[in-house]
Amino acid sequence: MSQDRLTFVIAAYNEERALPQLHPRLLAVLDALHGLEGRVLYVDDGSSDGTWAILQALVAADPRVSALRLSRNFGKEAALTAGLDQVQAGAALILDADGQDPPELAGQFVARWREGYDNVYGTRLEREGEGWFKRLTATVFYRVMGRLSRTPIPADTGDFRLLSPRALAALRELRERHRFMKGLFSWVGFRSVAVPYHRHRRLAGRSKFSLWRLWNFALEGITGFSTVPLRAATYLGLATAVSAFLFAVWVVGKAALYGDRVAGWPTMMAVILFLGGVQLIALGLIGEYLGRLYEESKQRPLYLVDTWLAPPVADSVLQPTLGGQADDHGSATVGRQVS
Ligand code: UDP
Ligand code: MG
Repeated sequence: MSQDRLTFVIAAYNEERALPQLHPRLLAVLDALHGLEGRVLYVDDGSSDGTWAILQALVAADPRVSALRLSRNFGKEAALTAGLDQVQAGAALILDADGQDPPELAGQFVARWREGYDNVYGTRLEREGEGWFKRLTATVFYRVMGRLSRTPIPADTGDFRLLSPRALAALRELRERHRFMKGLFSWVGFRSVAVPYHRHRRLAGRSKFSLWRLWNFALEGITGFSTVPLRAATYLGLATAVSAFLFAVWVVGKAALYGDRVAGWPTMMAVILFLGGVQLIALGLIGEYLGRLYEESKQRPLYLVDTWLAPPVADSVLQPTLGGQADDHGSATVGRQVS
């Protein structure tokens, strides 16, 4: 095998305080890779702090480092997609910019890749610096997902993983707008293996994922990988209809036997409100899926590149290849795969 390549892909959104701490560790890891050409690719997800200035300095200082700046904040999933789209040779290793995923484990990931695994993912043994509530909701979410989706999604697994060239190529085929990356990684399949690791605290700064954002993330996961809720709505409707019928038989029977003295106002209200509630829930569910269908049908690009900063040396691999032209120092590129 000729010199293989490993590219660290790192999405960063307002990480000016964490990056200067993470980068030296990354470079040390690159130096220690045996028989592998190491690269680092940062994606600035429309940061509003000094992140981009820091990335510019890092790119200027080391020819192995390149950076991509998106035109605005597109969210981590899109930022990762932008980064992975650029990795045209070798494997990619996805890391968080805040140091929660230790780059020092790269050796272990690469060893598994060498054994023939395509999807080497880090599984958290513990979550430092995360409260009981986040742990609990995460556990519940993975359980529910496991039940609802036919794509098995490993629990306690984030985006920290190594993807072989063919897994990357497969992932690039998936251009859906609503991206639940964990699900997409699993959907691709191939030989997968877990590497257990201790998830550290953030080096600096605050988590960008609020409770509300996590809830929406969970919805994304469920609607993206399962239509069980839609079917559940059907059964809920059926069950309601059957009980309504039985109730009607009872009411009519009672009136026939004992006469009707126009009682039952509370029951009537209860029934009306119950039916209204069930209908609205079912409608809302349909709306969730319909909204996503609408988003997909617009066929917008997943992200837009503002600037592409590659090392001055001509680099045959890390070239923007998607949809538009860009010189080494950046012009707009459209982040869409031309197939
Ligand atoms: N991130 C991003 N775009 C966003 C939000 C987050 O690129 O809109 C990056 C962020 O810089 C970090 C990673 O995604 O590298 C994980 O984010 P964070 O640490 O806030 O999430 P947590 O680890 O708390 O789940
Ligand atoms: Mg984090």
